[in-house]
Amino acid sequence: MKHIGFNKPFFTGKETQYIYEAVQSGKISGNGMFTQRCQIFFENRYGFKKCLLTTSCTDALEMSAMLAGIRPGDEVIIPSFTFVSTALAFVRQGASVIFADSYTDNPNIDAGAIEFLITNRTKAIVAVHYAGVACDMDVIMKLADQYGLLVIEDAAQAIDSFYTGANGVTRALGSIGHLAAFSFHETKNIISGEGGMLAINDDRFLERAEIIWEKGTNRSQFFRGEINKYSWIDIGSSFLPSEITAAFLYAQIENLDFIQDRRKHLWNRYYENLIRYSENLNLPILPDYATNNGHIFYLVLNDSESRTKLINKLRDDNVDAVFHYISLHSSTYYAPRYFGGPLLNSDKFSNCLLRLPMYFELEDDDIKRVCSIIISTHE
Ligand SMILES: *Cc1c(COP(=O)(O)O)cnc(C)c1O
Repeated sequence: MKHIGFNKPFFTGKETQYIYEAVQSGKISGNGMFTQRCQIFFENRYGFKKCLLTTSCTDALEMSAMLAGIRPGDEVIIPSFTFVSTALAFVRQGASVIFADSYTDNPNIDAGAIEFLITNRTKAIVAVHYAGVACDMDVIMKLADQYGLLVIEDAAQAIDSFYTGANGVTRALGSIGHLAAFSFHETKNIISGEGGMLAINDDRFLERAEIIWEKGTNRSQFFRGEINKYSWIDIGSSFLPSEITAAFLYAQIENLDFIQDRRKHLWNRYYENLIRYSENLNLPILPDYATNNGHIFYLVLNDSESRTKLINKLRDDNVDAVFHYISLHSSTYYAPRYFGGPLLNSDKFSNCLLRLPMYFELEDDDIKRVCSIIISTHE
């Protein structure tokens, strides 16, 4: 039987041509023509006020923590069911991360559980849009407004996905919070190997974001001819990617609709094949306010033994399926530092969620095969 892997990076065919053009241009360090083109593309398409490419989503989250002025003693509310970088960016600044639980039927942060976690030390809420499915942004933005907090969207998985508010307005994920971080890691929908982007939606951060991006200097202003000498004026780091990475990314974004259409098609095939068994498989549930961007197709088994059995069964048939995340409050690093209560939903997703193969070149017949293996364990 043909091997069906879990992920396979998709190349549009134009990547090497654009990298060649970047090399020919003689400028391969950051903030050149391809970087500008990518940033402008995302700003125009999704209504982000300003975009800065970064070397990863982790870096974009670290920039957010610096911009938010996070210091020792501050608290930042994040879901426990997420990737380590969501927490690490704030922990590095000396903050305490306060873990919130997921909903029962959706791995996203339970917006109704956030208010109880707010104290006079709270500085920010991080909304992670798991599988590209929106968090309840109306509730989160209202709390932020009420308590004077910042909202940072971890939109690593959320490119080209949307949220419709109670006012009927539909907005791109990453355009709603004060700041948002995207990933172009090779496991995401649109890729550049390693890569990411910070979207800045609040005017207060526009100028400082560029400075932090460029090692704490005002070099971006110098490049634009706004000043005649640049110097060290703030904290920062080397967050900008090279033009080689941006050139690769540009080839991907030119094909964004093509890639998204395919991924959503595959997601829908899984859904149609498995919906009859939803009682045992707990297929993803999309809230009315959210869209699907075909990033992850997952099941939630009834217990971890059923998950292990299914993974083994799929492996016997040459199919790779994987799970993630260990709840951060139970992780080796954080568990000794965690004094909060149990987070049962987060632990349930940690123990029972299973991700099925999902990549551009997956075929409809591959999906049929994967689904028939899954179904055979339930009949
Ligand atoms: C992938 C991912 C990240 C990290 O992205 P990198 O670009 O690899 O740093 C952060 N948060 C979430 C939710 C992710 O899925």
